[in-house]
This record gives sequence, structure tokens and C-alpha cells, in this order.
Amino acid sequence: MQRTDVNTLGEFGLIEHLTRDFPITQPSTLKGVGDDAAVIENGSFCTVVSTDMLVEGIHFDLAYMPLRHLGYKAVVVNLSDIYAMNALPKQITVSIAISNRFSVEALDELYAGIRAACTTYGVDLVGGDTTSAPKGMIISVTAIGQGEKSQLTYRNGARVGDLICITGDLGGAYLGLQILEREKQIFLENPGVQPDLDNQKYAIGRQLKPEARKDMIETFHRIGLKPTAMIDISDGLASEMFHICRQSKVGALIEETGVPIHPEVQLLALQFKLDPITCALNGGEDYELLFTIRPEDVDKIRFLPDIYIAGEITEAETGIKLNSTGGRLHDLKAQGWVHF
Ligand code: ADP
Ligand code: MG
Repeated sequence: MQRTDVNTLGEFGLIEHLTRDFPITQPSTLKGVGDDAAVIENGSFCTVVSTDMLVEGIHFDLAYMPLRHLGYKAVVVNLSDIYAMNALPKQITVSIAISNRFSVEALDELYAGIRAACTTYGVDLVGGDTTSAPKGMIISVTAIGQGEKSQLTYRNGARVGDLICITGDLGGAYLGLQILEREKQIFLENPGVQPDLDNQKYAIGRQLKPEARKDMIETFHRIGLKPTAMIDISDGLASEMFHICRQSKVGALIEETGVPIHPEVQLLALQFKLDPITCALNGGEDYELLFTIRPEDVDKIRFLPDIYIAGEITEAETGIKLNSTGGRLHDLKAQGWVHF
């Protein structure tokens, strides 16, 4: 019997491989595997569903991630996928697998974070599952949202000439993680040393307490803007641009000067001897939105805070290119996270 290592396919290749023989049979399934969320038609509106799993030791480290923050983040990362469809989340379910290492008080902390996210984003916790695990903790959250069929945004709607837009700023969550990992090592070697995190608060906050861009989706609805394509930035700009380009059958030209990076993050990157643009392109977990708009819609966003125009959609043949500040064109490679 042949044995193929899952790493030979990579995350995206593995998903495609496993789901290739599942044709859609229900007329109400408008979108199955392959976008930020599935879309199900329900008469006058659509239900949008997304699910994500967080595994201790892979996605979070309780050495520096307080349980309350973990609960909050586990919800936010799922809501982000619903917003990326231009829909609004309404309910969540939460499933946990836990070892006996966790007390009721510890789980209360986790659920205090989950409750805070429910309050902030206006969603109801409506179910889940609880089971034991031999060690560690696994959290799986499913988010259910609603949108109008004609207003939903997919990864495949970008067209040549569209402008590429980014909300917020990128690379911060990745640098926050680098700082927390560094402080953890220092602490393990010298438990007496107190960390000085003063000039790094922004990046650490981006890692420990990310927010989903509910505000942006509400703004789009208010000003009557429908992006042609949209995705949330969970794996870094390069990877998400790759998803939009592949599904829309287009290319992209990104201007390095157009990629928003927070000044504190610029400085931190240099301290870590990293190029800030590399952190924005390949760092993950910023949970900002990457979207494309028709050029005639540019006046709708030009003066909005926190939206940056980072480039333009091109013909597929030109691939995905970065025009660096030095004036050179680089080919962008998309790398999903390798988890295994
Ligand atoms: P995101 O990064 O937006 O959460 P993913 O990369 O996790 O998206 O997933 C991409 C697509 O593949 C989604 O439509 C997701 O529902 C689907 N998917 C992921 N894993 C599986 C699986 N094991 N079985 C079926 N569909 C999956
Ligand atoms: Mg997503």
C-alpha cells in the first residue's frame, strides 16, 4: 500500500485532494469548499457558515496567551471569515476538547473571552460540544452569518483593472508573536527577569487581541460599496492575493509603498533583522481585509480612514508581482502555513 506524506500536498493541496469527489447536489448550496465561508440560500437571504480549529502547541501557546484572550481570538478569527463574505455573523457554536490539566476556573476564563467577543460583535453562542482529550486543548468555533445574495463577495470576482485595497495594517501580529516567543525563551532561561514590553504594545496587542473588521463591512453597506472580491488576511498578504488571483483568473501588481505597516512594526522588524514588507507579505493573523473594487468606485473610499490602495489587478499572464521601493519587480510566491 502506497503511503504519501501529507506535507507533499501542503495545506491547500490536501484540502483539494480530500474534497475533490464531493459534487454539490443541493440547489441551495450556492458555495461549497473554497472560499472564506460556505453560502446556503434560504429564500430571501443567504446563510454563511465558516469553521476553524485552534490546537494548543500549534496555534496557541498558553505560556503567553492568557485563556481569556484565547477565547476572544478563537471567536474573532471565525467572525473575520464571515465579514470577508460581506455578510454579518449572527451565531456561533463552540466545541472544546480538554485534558484534566484544565480546571473549571481556567475554562471560566476561556469563556469570559468568548463572552466578550459575543458582546463586542453582537453574536449569540447557540451550541457546541465538550469532550476530553489525552492532553492539551483544542477549540473549534463555527460562525453562522447572514447576507443578501446580491451583496455577497467571493474570492473569484476580481477583474483586470480593479484596485487592490487593504484595511488596517499588516505584519503586526507576526512581530507580536516573535516578541512573545523571545520573551518566553528569556523567561525559561532566567525566570527572575521581568519583560520590558513597553515599545512593543501595538504588535503584542495585534497578536493577543485581534479584531475582525465589522466596522468596514458596516461602512461598505452604508456607502453602498460592493467589493468585486474579498478575503480576510489570516495567512499573510501574499497567500491571500494568490487565492484571489487563482480563483478570479487574474494577476496582480502590488506596490510596496502601498502596503500599510504600522511605524512600531517597521522598527520592530528591523530589530529582528527582518524586512518589514516580508512580515506584511508572509506573516499571518492580522485579520484585516483584502478586497478589490472597480476603479469607478475609488471616490467612495478615497477619504475613508484605514483603507489603503495597494495596487491593481492585471492579466493572469503577468502573475503576482511586487514593485519594491527600490523600483524592482519581484515575483510573489504564496505559501500557506505548513502546519504538519
Ligand atoms: P480560511 O483560511 O479562510 O479559514 P481555509 O484555508 O481553512 O480557509 O479553508 C479553505 C476552504 O477549504 C474553506 O472553504 C474550508 O471550509 C474548506 N476546508 C478546509 N478543510 C476542510 C476539510 N477537512 N474538509 C472539507 N472542507 C475543508
Ligand atoms: Mg479566511
